Amino acid sequence: MEKEWKCSSCSNWNEASNSGLFCSICGTPHYLETEEEKKSIKKRLEINNLNIPIYPGDNVFIKVLKNVFNFIQFIFLAIVSFFFWLIAIGPG
Ligand SMILES: [Zn+2]
Repeated sequence: MEKEWKCSSCSNWNEASNSGLFCSICGTPHYLETEEEKKSIKKRLEINNLNIPIYPGDNVFIKVLKNVFNFIQFIFLAIVSFFFWLIAIGPG
């Protein structure tokens, strides 16, 4: 029980077994005490960022494809964030 942590964003109590990283309700990262754990959170956040890097050497067609993909992903994330926000401001 004592290892449960409270989300700073939505005040939901998360179980310690919830890998200690993200709130199960709103997805807000939970900042842990040790540097090592902070680094592991940062690493996970970087993995979650799926943007495809665009290199100067890519041909035009590949550049357009990558831009379209990154744009679609941006829109998708914006919609998801919006729903998380709706949940966060909701009464429950
Ligand atoms: Zn939360």
